[in-house]
Amino acid sequence: MRYHERITHVLKDGERTEGEYVLYWMQSAQRTIDNHALDFAIRYANRLNCKLLVCFVIMPDFPNANSRHFMFMLQGLKEVVEKLNDIGAMFVLSVGHPEIEVVKRSVHAKSVVMDQGYGIYERKIRENILNKINAEVYIVDTNLVIPVHKAYAKEAYAAYAIRPSIMRQMDAYLEGTYDVPLTCRHEGNPFVLDIDAIFHTHLSSLTSVPVSPKFKGGQSEALKWLNTFISEKLEKYNANSSDPGLFGSSNLSPYLHFGHISPVTVANAVLSSGQPCDAFIEQLIVRRELAYNYLYYAKEDYRDLKRTLPRWAFETIESHRDDEREHIYDLQVLEQGLTHDPYWNAAQKEMVLTGHMHNTMRMYWGKKVIEWTESPEKALEILLYLNDKYELDGRDPNGYAGILWCFGKHDRPWRERPIFGKVRYMNAAGLKRKYNMKDYVSAIQLLEGEQFEK
Ligand SMILES: Cc1cc2nc3c(=O)[nH]c(=O)nc-3n(C[C@H](O)[C@H](O)[C@H](O)COP(=O)(O)OP(=O)(O)OC[C@H]3O[C@@H](n4cnc5c(N)ncnc54)[C@H](O)[C@@H]3O)c2cc1C
Repeated sequence: MRYHERITHVLKDGERTEGEYVLYWMQSAQRTIDNHALDFAIRYANRLNCKLLVCFVIMPDFPNANSRHFMFMLQGLKEVVEKLNDIGAMFVLSVGHPEIEVVKRSVHAKSVVMDQGYGIYERKIRENILNKINAEVYIVDTNLVIPVHKAYAKEAYAAYAIRPSIMRQMDAYLEGTYDVPLTCRHEGNPFVLDIDAIFHTHLSSLTSVPVSPKFKGGQSEALKWLNTFISEKLEKYNANSSDPGLFGSSNLSPYLHFGHISPVTVANAVLSSGQPCDAFIEQLIVRRELAYNYLYYAKEDYRDLKRTLPRWAFETIESHRDDEREHIYDLQVLEQGLTHDPYWNAAQKEMVLTGHMHNTMRMYWGKKVIEWTESPEKALEILLYLNDKYELDGRDPNGYAGILWCFGKHDRPWRERPIFGKVRYMNAAGLKRKYNMKDYVSAIQLLEGEQFEK
C-alpha cells in the first residue's frame, strides 16, 4: 500500500506544538471520497486529540475563472460541507486569497495539511504559504493515481516514456483507497453553505458565462456520470469514443478538474466492472498523468512555443510561418462559431453551450485555429483564451498539454505540408470519412435550438 508515499512532510523551524486543531486547506481535491488529504487530516487530528478544521478559500481573482466555473465549484462544495458536517469536521469558508486566509488560520493550528497543486500558479501559492507559516505542513498528492514525482522524475518527452513506469506502479497505488468511514473524535459545529448568497455577494461581477445546462458540480453528480458510463458506454469505449457523433466518452473531465472525483475512484470502478478498459485507462491515467507531469516539471511557460515545444516541432512550424492561409479569422468570429466550417462551428458551440467539447473535436478545433490565424503565437493565445473561458475542465494541465499537442507537443513528426510543416494535420474530409459527423452537428444544433427557446 502506497498511501504514505503521497504525503510530503515539510517541517518548519519553530514547529508549532500548541494549537487547537489540524487545519486542512482544501483546494485541488474538493471531495470527501478517496481524498487522501482529508483522510490523512482526520486521522492526524484524531491522533493529536484535537479538532479538524477544513478551510476553503474562494478566490474571485483566480486566473481565468468565471461565473460558470464558480457555480460548478460551489455546487460541489455544498456537498462537501454536508459530508463534513456528518463526520464532525469543522468548516470555514473564506473569500480572498489563501496566502492571507490560510496563513491566518494556521496561527491556531497544530499542523497544516494541503492537497498538492500541479500548475505553476497553484504551486506558487503553496510555496508562498509555506514561507509564511510557522507550523508543520503535510502536502498530500491525491488527484493523480500515481503521485506526480513517483510517476516520473523529470519531464517526460511523450507517453511512451512515462507509460512503463505508470503501468508498473498503478496497481499498488490503486490499493487501499478510502471513503470517509472515519469520523472526527472531536466534533465541531455544523456549517451551512448558502451558495446562491455567496455567488451573488462575491462572484456576480465576474465575467459572465452561463452555467452549464448539462453539468452540475459535485461528487454525487460525478458518480452518476461514472455509473452511466460504465453501464452504457465503457464496453464500446475503444470503438466509439473517438466518434463525435456517438458521444461515447465518460464526460468526467470537469469533475476530475475540480477534484470532485478522484481518478483512483474512477479507475477502480472501471477495472472492477469486468469490462475491457485498457483504452480508457490509457486516457485516464497515462495521458492525464503525462499532462500533469508536463505542467509539474516543465521549466518553461506553456505560453512560450519556442521553449516548450520539442525542437523538431518548433522548427517545422517556424519554417512554415509565412505560408499563405486560405482563411484568417479573428477572435470574435471564432468565439461565435461563425467560420465557413460547420464541424468547427459545431464544436465551438458545444463548448460554449455545455462547457465540454468532444475529444476528437478538441483536436480538430485546435488544429484549425492554427490554420486560420496569422501566426502560431496568435493561435495559441486564442486557443488558451477560449478553452479556459468556456470549458468546465479548462485551466487544467490537460488543457495546456492538449492545446500544445496541436502544435506537436508529445507527438511525432508526420508528412510535411503547408502551415503545419511536419506537425500532424487534420481536415474535415477525414472527420466526415471516419465519423458520424451528421449526427454530431445535428446534436449540437438541437442543443442550440433548446438554448434559443429558453
Ligand atoms: C485542444 C485540446 C484542448 C483540451 N483541453 C482540455 C482541458 O481544458 N481540460 C481537460 O481535462 N482536457 C482537455 N483536453 C484533453 C481531452 O480532450 C479531454 O480530457 C477529454 O475530451 C475529456 O472528456 P471525457 O472526460 O469524456 O474523456 P474520456 O475519454 O472519458 O477520458 C477519461 C479521462 O481521461 C483523461 N483524458 C482523456 N483524454 C485525454 C487527453 N488527450 N489528454 C489528457 N487526459 C485525457 C481526462 O481526464 C478524461 O476525463 C484537451 C485536448 C485538446 C486536443
